[in-house]
Amino acid sequence: MKVIGLLGGMSWESTALYYRWINEEVKKRLGALHSARIAMVSVDFHEIEMLQRAGQWDRAGEVLAQAAQQVEAAGADFLLICTNTMHKVAPQIENSISIPLLHLADATAAHVKQNNIKTVGLLGTRFTMEQAFYKDRLIERHGLNVIVPCEKDRQRVHKIIFEELCLGIVKEASRREYLRIMAQMQEQGAEGIIEGCTEIVMLVQQTHTNTPLFDTTEIHAKQAVTLALN
Ligand code: GLU
Repeated sequence: MKVIGLLGGMSWESTALYYRWINEEVKKRLGALHSARIAMVSVDFHEIEMLQRAGQWDRAGEVLAQAAQQVEAAGADFLLICTNTMHKVAPQIENSISIPLLHLADATAAHVKQNNIKTVGLLGTRFTMEQAFYKDRLIERHGLNVIVPCEKDRQRVHKIIFEELCLGIVKEASRREYLRIMAQMQEQGAEGIIEGCTEIVMLVQQTHTNTPLFDTTEIHAKQAVTLALN
């Protein structure tokens, strides 16, 4: 079994989900007392969030590149960046290590296509919904059509991520908001919704809607296990 490298802490609420998913999946596939071989470095999200807000992405990239080097030094065979948003600096991180990166957008797009879905709604932080690093990768590299919420709803989605979900707060009113926004994207043609932020699954799960959901945390974690066991 290969060693799965995790760059976590963004937020720790979702890194905990990664840890659980990866181990559940190894147990399911190998049985008995098997568990995953993991090397993880967890950063202080306060620092990263301040850099995001200040637009200091290069500096955030440096911090994460350094953490990724520690993951590699700890024996990881490949790396997962456990957040969609910080894939904005994925090239900087990739350049600083010699182990491969399992890119979250690629893992997700592959899964979406396996489900014969061509047009998806994308929910995540403003950075993920608005900037090219993630959306364009889905469109250009994977041929998906991507729908995002309107400006006002993007603000709402973003605020709920940072002011509630990353703090472990799950509110019924916020769930209703997300479901309303998802339904709207479905009306615009989305055949499924990418939960493109690793905390969103804490709020909306498949039991809450008939629209197919693609939880990036679960998808990423399971692909990591496939890679580790191959
Ligand atoms: N975990 C979130 C994501 O997947 C947001 C936190 C961050 O900004 O990294 O995008």
